[in-house]
Amino acid sequence: MSEKQIASLSLDLDNKWSYMKTHGDAGWESFPTYLETVVPRSLEFLRERKLKITYFIVGQDAAREENHEALTQISDAQHEIGNHSFNHEPWLHLYSKTELETEFERTEEAISKITNQKLVGFRGPGYSLSPTVLEVLAERNYEYDCSTLPTYIAPLARAYYFFKSPEMTDEEREKRKKLFGKFSDGFQSLKPYKWQIGEKSLVEIPVTTLPVFKTPIHASYVIYLSTFSKSLARAYWKTAVEMCRLSGTQLSLLLHPLDFLSGEDAPELKFFPAMNLPVEQKLEFVSEILETFGEKFEIVNMRQHAATVRRENIKSLIVERAKS
Ligand SMILES: [Zn+2]
Repeated sequence: MSEKQIASLSLDLDNKWSYMKTHGDAGWESFPTYLETVVPRSLEFLRERKLKITYFIVGQDAAREENHEALTQISDAQHEIGNHSFNHEPWLHLYSKTELETEFERTEEAISKITNQKLVGFRGPGYSLSPTVLEVLAERNYEYDCSTLPTYIAPLARAYYFFKSPEMTDEEREKRKKLFGKFSDGFQSLKPYKWQIGEKSLVEIPVTTLPVFKTPIHASYVIYLSTFSKSLARAYWKTAVEMCRLSGTQLSLLLHPLDFLSGEDAPELKFFPAMNLPVEQKLEFVSEILETFGEKFEIVNMRQHAATVRRENIKSLIVERAKS
């Protein structure tokens, strides 16, 4: 028997209001929550399977008294807490440095009210990331980022970047082509690597997608497939796990609250895929996914995963600081 490779598991604790906000539904401004339902349910599920994971919490939720009871249960159960931004805006990569600093300060302060854990990990809302986000993370002594979703978007991202900076000279443009080329390389790597930002370095753990094809493999997607055919979804997931194992890709699997909720729990979100499934059926399937996962990999939280990566001699991508 060969030793199992390490893999990580995390849950992005997107609340009801953040889905409504992104979808453009009225009523999100009062921050409707389902944390009192989804937190205990997911904790119980993980406890039964002896799993310790990372919960990425949104600062706005930690700032609201009504969520404190649910959120403190997470660190009480010894799960890692990560930073998932304050406002959960998928356009975070467009924030200025000052806006980002405020965003981080507010989140760290709000989360310090529910746990003594120091935040060392970050995942941007909607997989948003920019060189400035990395710079701010490094300055605030974070250990890892896990905001990249490897797809083929790099040329698009570069076009967008230039579009946003019409005042640039040709020379600056040329320089940034290199800069952004390096930055965008990160979006194509399935394997963890490091960002070098001045003297500091950050570990990057991409959200794993299917090797070669780069289609999503997070739990919600596999559950969605299961609404068409359970055996297809099962085969897809098993193939993904096996391809990751064979290619030496340290899988990082992502869970969402909706994997633990049905349309009855959150009627406002009935339009989401797989929300018509009864919750028992969803949990049974998530359970199956995690079982296959655990057979092939040793499952740890994100911080442990990042610490392992840091010790390895792996590639670093240089992030040049923007001129201020
Ligand atoms: Zn999110």
